[in-house]
Amino acid sequence: MDFNFPAEDDPRRQDVRRWFEANPSPTYKQIAQRGFSAANWPAPWGIGADAEMMLIIEEEFARAGIRQPSAFNPIAVNQCGQSLLTWGTEAQRQELLPPALACEHKWCMLFSEPSGGSDVGGLRTQARRVGDHYIVNGQKIWNSSADEADIGVLIARTDNSVPKHQGLSQFIIDMKSPGITVRGIEDMTGEEHEYCEVFFEDVRVPADRLLGKEGDGWRITMEQLQTERQSMTKPGAVWGAGPTARELVNGLIQTGKIRQPLVRDEAARLYIEGELLRLLSLRNLSNKINGKPAGIEGNIGKMMASPHGQRMTDLAKRTQGVAGMVKDKDVLPLPAKEYGRFTDWDYAYWFSPATTLGVGTQEILKNTVAERVLGLPRDSDPSARMPFNQTTAPRAAA
Ligand SMILES: Cc1cc2nc3c(=O)[nH]c(=O)nc-3n(C[C@H](O)[C@H](O)[C@H](O)COP(=O)(O)OP(=O)(O)OC[C@H]3O[C@@H](n4cnc5c(N)ncnc54)[C@H](O)[C@@H]3O)c2cc1C
Repeated sequence: MDFNFPAEDDPRRQDVRRWFEANPSPTYKQIAQRGFSAANWPAPWGIGADAEMMLIIEEEFARAGIRQPSAFNPIAVNQCGQSLLTWGTEAQRQELLPPALACEHKWCMLFSEPSGGSDVGGLRTQARRVGDHYIVNGQKIWNSSADEADIGVLIARTDNSVPKHQGLSQFIIDMKSPGITVRGIEDMTGEEHEYCEVFFEDVRVPADRLLGKEGDGWRITMEQLQTERQSMTKPGAVWGAGPTARELVNGLIQTGKIRQPLVRDEAARLYIEGELLRLLSLRNLSNKINGKPAGIEGNIGKMMASPHGQRMTDLAKRTQGVAGMVKDKDVLPLPAKEYGRFTDWDYAYWFSPATTLGVGTQEILKNTVAERVLGLPRDSDPSARMPFNQTTAPRAAA
């Protein structure tokens, strides 16, 4: 595999660039119709782009200064929408995917609960089948963008009488359904409602919004989390988005800060980590294009990418002196391009502690790698084989 970006005069790049030049301010609907929202998906949703084409498209979005649909509506375009291709019905795909890819419907992920986000298998929100509906009761927490979402990807317990991982099902729900209450949580970035709490009180979900079959929820959710982790395996400072170590180092060179030996030492280490992540992300992309499902390498990549982003952000903040304490006053020059959720180093700094928690904490990722890659003994979980209603955890009476 060639590890460099396809050249400027590559005909595929020229073709994409011409489209952005002819459509300088495209709507997300136009982007979706051109097949660029989820370009690696097969037609009619995407254009079946291979790894190189995906790199070209990503570069050309950045060059055109347009936020990619995968950054604007990540749960739909990146993490969960693709599950509908594998697990969904044709009716679900036709109804839900066009507005998702056009970013007309924003999606959120409703997985974590107050009893603990790491143990998804132990969740307590219940969905009880009544005729042609499910009735949902329970609570979720830490749900990004739930306050502005139209669609929620919900995992809930449909069967209490089987071991905890077997009784889970996934639903694609309408967030405006009666009985749903969303409350924003303010975090230390100052961003209002980065996360939310979502309460369900006798919410009626049509049975045709069940994804796959009852009991498939655990497998579908694990696939989605691995896909999400893979998408974070990139050299950007905030969960793979934002400036790379290469760009940070260039800024340190331009401002002369690299002349300080300790800064130079840290910068070199970050540069090397950034290159490893860049190569890993290319491998992930290649696997994805070749139809290989997201696997354990998503854990390894995220385990590296999150602390890497934290170290980058810390160095960027420190080397700016007092200016680093002021929002919107970055003194390290960065290329003028669209960085997704990264706005400035100040935001990145305050957000950075969250990156080693969300989408799997470091401890959980390490446990999984220890068990599944290194073959170490499994974490003991006596409740894993017991019917859920015989464990101490359940409150739900499904
Ligand atoms: C930025 C961000 C965005 C998020 N977005 C979403 C979202 O959109 N939707 C959603 O559903 N959730 C979301 N979350 C929640 C996230 O998935 C959970 O925070 C995460 O799974 C950890 O769960 P918890 O916070 O309940 O911690 P807990 O599971 O309570 O864990 C607490 C601590 O105990 C440790 N621990 C737990 N179990 C073990 C074990 N078996 N072995 C060793 N250590 C263990 C953990 O590593 C952690 O340090 C988001 C979180 C963040 C930070």
